[in-house]
Amino acid sequence: MTKEDLQRFCSTDETRPNLLEPWSQGDFSYAADGYTIIRVPRLSNVEENPVAPNAAELFERFTDNMREFFQIPELQPREIRTCPVCAGKLIFEGDPCETCIDEETPGKIERIVRVQIREALFNRNYLERLKSLPGVLIGPKGPEDPAWIKFDGGDGLIMPIRKD
Ligand SMILES: [Zn+2]
Repeated sequence: MTKEDLQRFCSTDETRPNLLEPWSQGDFSYAADGYTIIRVPRLSNVEENPVAPNAAELFERFTDNMREFFQIPELQPREIRTCPVCAGKLIFEGDPCETCIDEETPGKIERIVRVQIREALFNRNYLERLKSLPGVLIGPKGPEDPAWIKFDGGDGLIMPIRKD
């Protein structure tokens, strides 16, 4: 794993400036976006970041040897459709459409596909990104606790989607 591999798991949300780049703490280097965090043995070219979350404490709290690990199942395609508010025209009642204008595909909206693994539901798109990690396995704990991720060369945590 390289710094570039970690970068794919960083936030791209400018309102989370502490998560935009990987950081090192103790024996590990980390990348997180608020939903997923992964860690690998410390990389010499990843700097420490005093405003980054206390990742070591997170892993301490949420990893244990009491759980089973599973392969991430085959994923259904993303559900992206034309914005029902502006019909894909980007304008609604004379103003820019607030429903779809900020999406990566303007004029369209995405319904997040939920994937059930044991008792927990996960965002399909986050699972797809995890699937790129070599030998990845997921160990869910319950419907609301972070699942533990293991892969060749590192591990991580992913938050489930709350049932509602
Ligand atoms: Zn729209």
